[in-house]
Amino acid sequence: MSDPLVGRPDDPRSDSVGRRDGPPLDPPDQRAADSGDGEHAHPHEHEHVHEDAPPHVHVHVHEHDPTELHAVGTAALAGAEAGAAVEPGEIDAAARWIELEHVHFSYPDGFEALHGVSLQIARGEKVALVGPNGAGKSTLMLHLNGIHLPSHGTVRIGGTVVDRKSVKRIRAEVGLVFQDPDDQLFSPTVFEDVAFGPLHMGVPQAEIHERVERALAAVGMSGFERRLPHRLSLGQRKRVALATVLSMDPSVLVFDEPSAGLDPRGRRELIGLLRTLDQTLIVSSHDMKLVAEIFPRLVVMDGGVVVGDGPTDAILADDAFLEAHGLERP
Ligand code: ADP
Repeated sequence: MSDPLVGRPDDPRSDSVGRRDGPPLDPPDQRAADSGDGEHAHPHEHEHVHEDAPPHVHVHVHEHDPTELHAVGTAALAGAEAGAAVEPGEIDAAARWIELEHVHFSYPDGFEALHGVSLQIARGEKVALVGPNGAGKSTLMLHLNGIHLPSHGTVRIGGTVVDRKSVKRIRAEVGLVFQDPDDQLFSPTVFEDVAFGPLHMGVPQAEIHERVERALAAVGMSGFERRLPHRLSLGQRKRVALATVLSMDPSVLVFDEPSAGLDPRGRRELIGLLRTLDQTLIVSSHDMKLVAEIFPRLVVMDGGVVVGDGPTDAILADDAFLEAHGLERP
């Protein structure tokens, strides 16, 4: 194969999606975003439907203790050594691996899409983010790897505040998979797309092949290295988009609407794949069956605030609450 790593930053398709505002060596999640002020960052078109925040009809308290559920064993961004004995402070850090404190966010047109969101997610936890269109789910997810930075409030990942200084490290730690894989794939080959992230993170070339192979194997796409991404089916492109993120070895995976547009088989395959992932998982979805099947915890957003947070079964059993927030039982 000719050197698959050559020529990537100049790929014209990166400009054709209109979102590659950063310098040529940006990691791939920056392909779909600017460096934090949000002006060009949103990967999808959204109707601007501002309504006043609905009242907090219910607030389900997150009852289980996440530290009991998830083993702590890998290095914290803050610097804990992998495999070292687990100190109480580390348990605390793992329980608050993702932490949003009173996050407000306004788009450049002045519209405030998040009105003070506070949330904690433990390391290894699997959380579904649901709510009607325009609730602020995508806006929130774009805060998790610094594509958006809060107008007020704080986002921390593994104890590190997400800001302009930390954003590069944060993007290696938090992988964002966009709803439309075409926002994430723009190389002539699958290999180059999956190699892009680690390459631009400075991973030694000798390790790149191994990372690509591992990521493609994890999504069931081994053997597709030389294929043209845009010729693959939607389900396959979604898998490759996930591989472009897995190759960076993130501890957190954030998915926007992973099952959108998939046929029943593709959806089943995706559910099987999501089950195999041991990273911290945050998935926004309107697919309540998928949500009920995979995610023990549900965070419900409406009108730019969190209106519910708790065990999925309990929330899905509350018909009045579901109806108040435009949700349906699976
Ligand atoms: P969801 O993902 O829950 O559908 P979003 O986070 O996409 O919601 O949108 C939340 C709110 O922010 C919506 O009212 C939407 O119209 C608005 N919004 C999203 N992107 C922009 C933008 N680039 N400029 C102005 N408003 C936006």
